[in-house]
Amino acid sequence: MRIKSFEDFEPFNKLRKKMGADTLGDFELFDPQRQITYSERELLELGEFDVESGRLRVLKDKTIAFKNTRLWLTWPDHNNFHLAACEQVQKRRHKKSNFIAGLNQPTDRYVCIDCLQLLKYDGLDARRSRRLDLAETMQKEFKLDDFKQNYPFYPLV
Ligand SMILES: [Zn+2]
Repeated sequence: MRIKSFEDFEPFNKLRKKMGADTLGDFELFDPQRQITYSERELLELGEFDVESGRLRVLKDKTIAFKNTRLWLTWPDHNNFHLAACEQVQKRRHKKSNFIAGLNQPTDRYVCIDCLQLLKYDGLDARRSRRLDLAETMQKEFKLDDFKQNYPFYPLV
């Protein structure tokens, strides 16, 4: 099959003129409004990205996204990191406070059990998570990399 060259396709040429593009070239596909930039990514990898609550989105599955990536959230002097819009996260969003966000498993913080419960992660529900020993074990054994198998972080499409 021969594919006709787009250069000979009049509607495209008209469109190109309309856009003011005189010459053919590569299109810049990167959109910093919707895609994380290199420096944002760097800070996210370090778990040191400072983000305004207004720039976060809660996805349909209740996980949290910034532009085209999922992430975890925490804040100063807080022992947990959050993976979903649990009550504590929502409270902080309503106060329009900033968050610290990251992509890799934090070594100095435990996963928030309320978030896992909200996501029904690993079959966790309210009844089971009331068992303190179980919640504690889950926190200790939680692997963000496993979580990402179900909820890939980056890139979101
Ligand atoms: Zn939480």
